[in-house]
Amino acid sequence: MSVADVIIGTTRTGLEWIPRFALEIDRETCIGCGRCYKVCGRDVMKLVPVDGDGAIVAIGADEDIDDVECEKKVMVIHQPEFCIGCQACSRVCPKDCYTHGPLPVAA
Ligand code: SF4
Ligand code: SF4
Repeated sequence: MSVADVIIGTTRTGLEWIPRFALEIDRETCIGCGRCYKVCGRDVMKLVPVDGDGAIVAIGADEDIDDVECEKKVMVIHQPEFCIGCQACSRVCPKDCYTHGPLPVAA
């Protein structure tokens, strides 16, 4: 993928930069601390309960995440289409869970 093929952002003065979008969060290492969620202004991720195999446990419509029986809670990328590739989430993550990368311009 050449630079010409990837999504390019611009600063307020028109300087170009290459956004590195959130592609993946490692469920093994995530401790569900919520730091990434707090710094993301784009509503990209959400906290979910997982079982011992790392599979997401369903939450009932009237159930609170804190009442769900689970192994632990982890952050997942819920709405990737809203990500602007700023990498703020990765900078505050204490467990280095994030994988980021450029993305191709949609055809
Ligand atoms: S890269 Fe920026 S916009 Fe995307 S998930 Fe992380 S903090 Fe949110
Ligand atoms: S900051 Fe890192 S460890 Fe904390 S919830 Fe986000 S991905 Fe998980």
